[in-house]
Amino acid sequence: MDTTFSAQVNELSEQTIELCYHCHKCTAGCPVAVEMEFGPDRVLRLIQLGQKDRVLGSGDIWVCASCETCATRCPNEISVAAVMDALRAISMAEGYATPEPDAPAFHRLFLGIVGRFGRMHEASLMMIYKLKTRKLMADMDSGIPMILKGKIPILPHRVRGMNEVKRIFRETGS
Ligand code: SF4
Ligand code: SF4
Repeated sequence: MDTTFSAQVNELSEQTIELCYHCHKCTAGCPVAVEMEFGPDRVLRLIQLGQKDRVLGSGDIWVCASCETCATRCPNEISVAAVMDALRAISMAEGYATPEPDAPAFHRLFLGIVGRFGRMHEASLMMIYKLKTRKLMADMDSGIPMILKGKIPILPHRVRGMNEVKRIFRETGS
């Protein structure tokens, strides 16, 4: 048990995890909870109990899609998405192993593309991720039809206000 863990997560996520009374509303609305070992509200419970190794060793923090559904449903205005973000940052900084070995690389790549263009460019993400993981043919059956139907633009678009995006990345150390 790590008695400093919840304070560490609270500070980094700017949330107050102790406010969670486990009503389960976040988990009920989470689109990927079925793929998780614990699910959003039990991750919060484990943090409250100082179970740092169990939380940071779980694939749940990498399965979270940062969709913010949990934040909009929580009666106590806790953003589990922000908590998951903080957990990923702690996991990478402290070198925790994850059951999803490619997940940290995907996470860094995702942030790198958003930092460069101000938004996601899925074609770049797919291409670089495949080269890095050497899984060149994985998911081609769904990826190619999406490109052909124009669901995945070939060329990236930069957003306006890139200076602001770069400032946010600089100040958050992303
Ligand atoms: S919705 Fe909020 S209070 Fe309810 S379990 Fe989730 S985080 Fe806790
Ligand atoms: S932000 Fe993460 S934990 Fe919250 S509902 Fe979305 S996928 Fe689930």
